[in-house]
Amino acid sequence: MDIRYQLKPRAARRQKPFLPDGPLPFGQLRTDHMFLMDYVDGRWIDPRIVPYGPLALAPGAVALHYAQEIFEGAKAFLHEDGEIHAFRIDKNAARLNRSGAGVLIPPIPEDDQVQAILSLLDVDRLWAPHQEGASLYIRPFVFGTQDSLGVKPSSRYTFCVFLSPSGPYYPAGFREPVKLLVTRRFHRAAPGGTGAFKTGGNYAASLMAGHVAHEHGASQVLFLDVTDTYIEEAGAMNHFHVTRAGELLIPTFTETILRSITSESVLELGERHLGVRVRQDRIPVEQFLDDVRSGAITEAGGFGTAAVVSAVGSYVFDDATELRVGDGHIGPHTRKVYEALTGIQRGKRPAPEGWLFLAKRVESTARPGE
Ligand SMILES: *Cc1c(COP(=O)(O)O)cnc(C)c1O
Repeated sequence: MDIRYQLKPRAARRQKPFLPDGPLPFGQLRTDHMFLMDYVDGRWIDPRIVPYGPLALAPGAVALHYAQEIFEGAKAFLHEDGEIHAFRIDKNAARLNRSGAGVLIPPIPEDDQVQAILSLLDVDRLWAPHQEGASLYIRPFVFGTQDSLGVKPSSRYTFCVFLSPSGPYYPAGFREPVKLLVTRRFHRAAPGGTGAFKTGGNYAASLMAGHVAHEHGASQVLFLDVTDTYIEEAGAMNHFHVTRAGELLIPTFTETILRSITSESVLELGERHLGVRVRQDRIPVEQFLDDVRSGAITEAGGFGTAAVVSAVGSYVFDDATELRVGDGHIGPHTRKVYEALTGIQRGKRPAPEGWLFLAKRVESTARPGE
């Protein structure tokens, strides 16, 4: 793919390494540039890196009305060697295309997606934050742009990638376990629906659940399947728990659960790297809660790119009663998994072959206009 560069004037770009001294927010800041590519007449055309800024969009664009949109979330890290390494973005590229297949958005070759991300990381490399726990959050997304009110797939799309220099997802850091609301009032996904696709509409549909969770002092709902029998996942994290026998369980991926790359990484690392057996199974919610009560389950939490690993300290119910997990603090297995994953991401531990993608330095003279 031949990327066209239309960069900001040198003087208007970040000139020095990004050394924030205060806490960095998550997802608020932007870098100087973004990647864009359009789908017109059945082809992806004009891949380009341009200044970050507003997009021109017809008010009748399909995505604005019928939510034909898919997105991804990944992270890149500044290592001690001064280079930027993106974590498993080939998996994100494959998943973007699976999500696209679910809502009739045309695929983008995975190699082109990876090249788009790495090229943007190279151009904006000075934005990689030098800060413990910080990263460059990567947001690729595709949306239908055809100006048409018929309910049908758009004939045109835009693929965009931008970057957000971010601190840890939870301002309190990994020290504060979260609370989840267990309720039968809301469901995130239904069989035959879009739960396994990373599409914006799923998130619009989860906002009220998140709002009610907050009213209960919880950070999100722990969603159950539509029969209220099995644990599925939280808003933007897969769920997991650890048994007293020392096994980590993740609900089996179904068509109503988003296949988390963080979960897949934990499954691939397994006992050899994590010191705990890892497997998937259907998790009946009543049995789960009984086991938390009896102490047979000692730890629980969530997996997702943003927070990497979140510990669940307690579950809260509609009647405001609460159930603590273990002693309510972060358990040893949860901590071990967090340290293994973040260690690999930050280059402090050896990464399995192919998990890190180096943003190669391209001589700036190789970019027209520089
Ligand atoms: C993105 C997402 C996750 C986490 O997936 P990762 O690949 O680990 O970031 C979990 N659940 C839902 C619903 C998601 O959208």
